[in-house]
Formats: sequence, structure tokens, C-alpha cells
Amino acid sequence: MHRAITRCLVLSIVCTAASLATAVPAAAQPAAKNVVVITLDGLRWQEFFAGADRDYFKRDKNGSGGPAEQRFWRDTPAERRSALMPFVWTTIATQGQIVGDPAANSRAHLTNGLWFSYPGYSELLAGVADPRIDSNNKVPNPNVTVLEWLNARPGFAGRVAAFGSWDVLPFILNAERSKLPVGTSYTPSPNAQTPRERAINELATDLPRYWEYGPFDAPIVYAALEHLATKRPRVLYILLGETDEWAHEGRYDLYLDAALRADRFIERVWTTLQSMPDYAGQTALVITTDHGRGATTKDWMDHGRDVPAAERTWMAFLGPGVAPMGIRTGMTATTSQVAATIAALVGEDFRQGVPQAAPAVPLAR
Ligand SMILES: [Zn+2]
Repeated sequence: MHRAITRCLVLSIVCTAASLATAVPAAAQPAAKNVVVITLDGLRWQEFFAGADRDYFKRDKNGSGGPAEQRFWRDTPAERRSALMPFVWTTIATQGQIVGDPAANSRAHLTNGLWFSYPGYSELLAGVADPRIDSNNKVPNPNVTVLEWLNARPGFAGRVAAFGSWDVLPFILNAERSKLPVGTSYTPSPNAQTPRERAINELATDLPRYWEYGPFDAPIVYAALEHLATKRPRVLYILLGETDEWAHEGRYDLYLDAALRADRFIERVWTTLQSMPDYAGQTALVITTDHGRGATTKDWMDHGRDVPAAERTWMAFLGPGVAPMGIRTGMTATTSQVAATIAALVGEDFRQGVPQAAPAVPLAR
């Protein structure tokens, strides 16, 4: 995503809401008490729904795709996606819902027309594409995100937090105005107080400084889990960035590895929630992405205005308020609907505060 800054601004190769006639309010089912949102930056629907693609592995002179091909290649798309993201395709696909599978005649897509990170996250969290958000610059978001809005609702005040390596996240959430705690960059644990929080911040700095904007995803996830254990948030957002970064570097092997580790992180968060009395059976999970990527071996590394295939996304939902319908068929949803969906899952109507936001994705049966 930070690459998009260079691409958008220096090289200028930058990296429509669905009608829901039969919309059923998510509140028709018992709402969750808490919600956790996890995004995987720039993970394509192609890998999400069909796993690794053999054409993308780098091959040696004998034609071998090496360890990555051994780890992720299987004979069928169903086996390949389960090898890539086992928690998503065992637990969420059976107990929750997955939206956007073209093989099921479904479509999930952006409405911002720019197909890179800040416009994607703003659409996702504010519920509407805003043409003023047209770069990855560190500009405070004029829009109110669902995180900021929930943080002002009774029962949620001071119980909303966000974590993400990318140091633009505090601007996307307008942390100065929203006062949301944001663990980011080389301070994954904001206001570190516990020995573990201090150790996580040390670890972030002790790892190789591979990206200037922030560390690998792991310390960010550890910081979010520590926040969950000690601060008991009702709304927790975790932005995972590595999928996008390794893709920009053309490292298909590490792109796949980042997706697998993201699945491990999601499973760990879910397992942790189910071990906590205040969260078990009372917490919904939302998983999605900020944009897709190019659809060929030539442009899969990229996304943005010149890569229209990057419009396509995917979404997954699990927990109270989400009927166990598995892979949704014949359904269209937009990324702008995610904000109202997050609120609806905890029994709140985001469109009361932000009327221009797209309606929630109908998740009740
Ligand atoms: Zn990117």
C-alpha cells in the first residue's frame, strides 16, 4: 500500500452501490455484543476463492515452483483455497457467510473507482466512496468512520480500537478528531503499559526494518490481542498489510505465505474470543479487503486506476447475526456496505449517523 504512494504520486501509475431489493435487517437475528474487523490488504479474490495459481510461481530451470508450489498447489480449487486459508474455508465457510465468489454467481466490489488503499479503507469504514480521497497521503479523513461513530454511541465509548502497521491508518481514522487509540508503525501497542505491550513494541523495532512505514504484521496482531485481553474493546479493527506488500514485490511465494499467516491470525483471534466469557458466542467477525489486483501474470502485482480488475473484492462474516449460509450465491455487495454491516452486527444503525452510507449486507436468513 505504501508503494501506491510512490506509484500514484511520483510515477502516476496509480496503483455503485448494489441494490438490495430483498434486504433483511441484520438485526432480525440477535445482535452481537462485540465485533472484530480484520482486513487483508490487496488479497485478490482469485487466491481467496481458488487458492494458488500455478502460472504465478517462479520456476527454476527444471520447471519446479519450489517449496511454495509444494505448500500451496493442490488439484482442485476447493483444496487449494483450503490449503491457503484453512480457517476461512473450514469454519467461516460452514458456520458463517462468504460473499463475492464469481463461481457462485456473486460479486463483491469497490465503488471508489481508484482501486488503491486509502480510498478503499475510507469506503470500507465510512460507508461511502469520497472523491476527495484520491491519494495515500497522510491527510486526516474528513469522513466519519463507523469506528469513530460507534465510539460515540452509548456503551461503546472508549471501547473501540484499531491496529495496523501502515502509518496512514491514524489519518484514515482521523485519530486526532476521533480520539481512537491506533496501534501503528513501530509502536504497535499505543500507550504501552504492561510488560508484554512494551516487549511487543521492542520486538517491532528489533525485527528487520524492511518497510519504512512499519513492521511486519505479527507484532501488530500481538498488540491487538494484548489490547483485547487488557482493555476489553467492543469494536476491534486489525489491518493486515503484508499481502499487498509482497505482491508489489512480485513475491508470489511470500504473498501466499502472508495470506496463510493472516488466516492463522484470524483463527487465533477467533479462538481467543471464544475463550473469554465476555466475548464467547457474543462476538461477530468481519473479514475483507481494501482492493483487488490485476488479473494476469503481467499485472497481478499492481492495482489502482490503470488496473480495473482491482475493483473486485470479497467479504466473510461469522458469529451472532450471521446465518450459517456458507458461500452466498447470486449476491452482489459493495465494499461501501461493510461500514453499516459492522454497526448492524452490534445492533446499531450507522445510517442514522451517516445517511449517505450504503446499507448493511443482509446476513440474516
Ligand atoms: Zn498496494
